[in-house]
Amino acid sequence: MRTFDYVRADSAAAAVAAGAAAGARFIAGGTNLIDLMKLEIEAPATLVDISRLELAGVEDLPDGGLRIGALVPNSDLAAHPAVIARYPVLARALLAGASGQLRNMATVGGNLLQRTRCYYFYDTAAACNKRVPGSGCAAQGGYTRNLAVLGGSAQCFATHPSDMAVALRALDAVVVTDRRQVPLGEFHRRPGETPAVETVLAPGELIVAIELPPPAGDRQVYRKVRDRASYAFALVSVAGVVRMADGRIEHATLAFGGLGTVPWRDPAADAVLVGETPSDALFARAADVLLAEARGAGDNDFKIPLARRVLIASLRELTDG
Ligand code: SF4
Repeated sequence: MRTFDYVRADSAAAAVAAGAAAGARFIAGGTNLIDLMKLEIEAPATLVDISRLELAGVEDLPDGGLRIGALVPNSDLAAHPAVIARYPVLARALLAGASGQLRNMATVGGNLLQRTRCYYFYDTAAACNKRVPGSGCAAQGGYTRNLAVLGGSAQCFATHPSDMAVALRALDAVVVTDRRQVPLGEFHRRPGETPAVETVLAPGELIVAIELPPPAGDRQVYRKVRDRASYAFALVSVAGVVRMADGRIEHATLAFGGLGTVPWRDPAADAVLVGETPSDALFARAADVLLAEARGAGDNDFKIPLARRVLIASLRELTDG
């Protein structure tokens, strides 16, 4: 590990000021960043410790929504009564991620910023445009089992690994920073020509909270398929929020993990469902729309039929079969 300076911020303003310096990185739980520093994938000049800031509260909003501080530990959020009662898809997604020990340390803000688990990103002997811009992509023609089938580019097609972010996309979450509000759907960047730039955050911009609108549906599910029962990233996951009225789907929002280069939403797939009577034929049409642009790279081809099956199973559960 390389040497670095360490600064503990005692206010959000001090954190933002210190975080704007060249080579500075915020650290809270450190569950991803420390691993990356040990491997010298990340080599910050300064770590700005934000863990003592007062950003660990959860509070109701006047409109019936919820404001979640950026430093709320993942395990605390999963156990929060308001989340269990009104946003169960979020609780289930959180509990599907990582391990108990990691969830105790990992924060909401850090979870959004965790880096991909592409094998080649962690292999410093391999070419990787995300780790070293312009160096190439060893995954092209390599082992692609955990890589994306939607949203990739010639530069990179690594998935975003977060379960929590998938549920937050289905819930239309908004990221609140020290200077603005960003809908989560606009927060993560697809790789395009600059895969090393993963979010719209400016240098020194600090996530202070996540805001959720009132839940749009009382039927919520998070279904995750992975290689083993715990402590594994999604091959495919589905977060769904549905509201039914008179036997028809009045509202549907679906989000997906393991498929895309960002936590994935396709409003066109949601639109197929709204106003319709649930049926397997309808669910298959939504899957057709969702996966129309999906492209496998060999080892990850299985994700396309798997996503179809997981989506249909999730919609059956959300609509009572
Ligand atoms: Fe790196 Fe992305 Fe290629 Fe993986 S897919 S090797 S993260 S550039």
